[in-house]
Amino acid sequence: MLNVPSQAFPAPGSQQRVASQGRSKVPLKQGRSLMDWIRLTKSGKDLTGLKGRLIEVTEEELKTHNKKDDCWICIRGLVYNVSPYMEYHPGGEDELMRAAGADGTDLFNEVHRWVNYESMLKECLVGRMAVKPAVPKGMLPKSQVTDTLPREGPSSPSYDWFQTESSVTIAIYTKQKTISLDSVIVDLQGDSLRAETFIKDHSYLIHIGLSHEVQENFSVRVIENVGKVDIVLQKRENISWKCLGEPLEKHDSFIPKKDTGLSYRRCQLISKEDVTHDTRLFCLMLPPSTHLQVPIGHHVYLKLSVTGAEIVKPYTPVSASLLSGFREPVSSPNKYIYFLIKIYPDGLFTPELDRLQIGDCVSVSSPEGDFKLSKLQEVEDLFLLAAGTGFTPMVNVLNYALTCMPSLRKVKLIFFNKTEDDIIWRCQLEKLAFKDKRFDTEFILSAPSPEWNGKQGHVSPALLSEFLQRSLENSRVFLCICGPTPFTDEGIRLLHDLNFSNDEIHGFTA
Ligand code: FAD
Ligand code: NAP
Repeated sequence: MLNVPSQAFPAPGSQQRVASQGRSKVPLKQGRSLMDWIRLTKSGKDLTGLKGRLIEVTEEELKTHNKKDDCWICIRGLVYNVSPYMEYHPGGEDELMRAAGADGTDLFNEVHRWVNYESMLKECLVGRMAVKPAVPKGMLPKSQVTDTLPREGPSSPSYDWFQTESSVTIAIYTKQKTISLDSVIVDLQGDSLRAETFIKDHSYLIHIGLSHEVQENFSVRVIENVGKVDIVLQKRENISWKCLGEPLEKHDSFIPKKDTGLSYRRCQLISKEDVTHDTRLFCLMLPPSTHLQVPIGHHVYLKLSVTGAEIVKPYTPVSASLLSGFREPVSSPNKYIYFLIKIYPDGLFTPELDRLQIGDCVSVSSPEGDFKLSKLQEVEDLFLLAAGTGFTPMVNVLNYALTCMPSLRKVKLIFFNKTEDDIIWRCQLEKLAFKDKRFDTEFILSAPSPEWNGKQGHVSPALLSEFLQRSLENSRVFLCICGPTPFTDEGIRLLHDLNFSNDEIHGFTA
């Protein structure tokens, strides 16, 4: 719900049309696109009915605003009058009404916790939820006394710090042995240090205003067998620190990842290169004082201001080329992030991205995603089914498979496109297949030119049966699939029909 109506459609036949996980996007009326909404919010019209006044809303009052033409919803403690937004919501009015007169935070987090609703709905802000008077603990019924009950999820990490003459080390004890360098994101801005460590589906935050100045460059190391993360800062002056600093917002908190917002940092556009007639390779540079590595198969959100409103869209980082191979992450990671992005001339976000000049900035979020590399363990045959830019998550999976999977016998990419001109990195794919005999690719076109003598059509039982051949009768197999949502849904359905189990399939979705 409250999904930014980036797709103020679907137009019939548009590949962007059906949302994932059973959520439908409802066709919007003429004049109800995101652009139309932005225009309305900038028109100066009173959208809350309160003439700009902000009020404190009690639970009782919230409950009374539960009708389409008088609908208030609370998200993360703030209350919005969403009635004016009803017709612009791509998930439809009914979806929005599920939280009418209530706290919609969980519903919102479930669907799109990354959506920048603060920016989208700022003209609909009614006020803040009133704080309930504290009830002395002894007076609560037993079932509500929760702080003595064991909390679900992993046990809380802790941290400590120590110093030498020239450095300060913050040690995070995660109590988990599955920690790696991509589990930690560190941003240092002036004296503010923000370090987020992902532990299973939880996030542990160190957020401190440091007591003394440090240099821009720092290092992060992970001691896997004890689950410890060290952030080593270099002092500007060789003096002894009496304390690490002051706690900032949510310092030392350990909460489910779904309840945290995304953190952003501004990255500079370093280069932009044509890959096909409509797809470009963008290279962004992370700030020098950021440590961020995107796990394989995960994506980030890019944020830009479009006519005054912040628009956010997901993109999947790729390696700079298919032929550069895979490198294990090291403690001073590559400062560059590459993206293959298709520009839709009438899209909302990509034309704006395409207009950026070298040196301009775009905000990049912390990574998201549910792909687990452990699924590839012991896999012998890997099948990658991609359509259009659905190729992007396959890039790093493919690099990883060919470099780091000793069990691997074969990788096959089945790549669906409209025409030959749409095939991303065709030449590199062919070179890679020539270089590594385990890899092979099949291009399937839905609207080929008369000269095309390869395969044509859409994802179908016949094509899949022809190409999904195991190298050995009982070889261990894994399949990844990504593309327009209806393509991915249909592909997964057909794979089930071919007796592949859920454990053998990963569908990339939002
Ligand atoms: P939109 O505004 O969303 O428009 C897209 C298309 O829909 C256009 O053809 C547009 O004409 C049409 N459309 C829009 N509004 C209407 C309307 N009212 N009526 C009819 N048609 C309409 N993309 C990449 O290129 N590279 C990636 O690495 C990548 N990774 C992704 C990762 C994830 C997890 C997900 C979910 C998506 C990813 N995408 C990627 C897609 C990306 O997020 C955007 O959806 C895409 O860039 C289009 O954005 P846009 O705002 O420019 O276009
Ligand atoms: P496209 O060029 O429009 O389509 C690529 C191929 O897929 C074409 O052959 C097309 O056939 C076919 N196709 C489209 N819809 C289909 C359907 N319903 N059933 C079967 N085949 C279908 O694709 P694109 O513009 O690059 O779009 C790529 C999509 O991938 C976007 O929706 C993007 O959001 C998504 N994506 C998702 C992730 C992720 O979730 N992690 C990552 C990257 C991209 P036709 O000629 O018939 O259209």
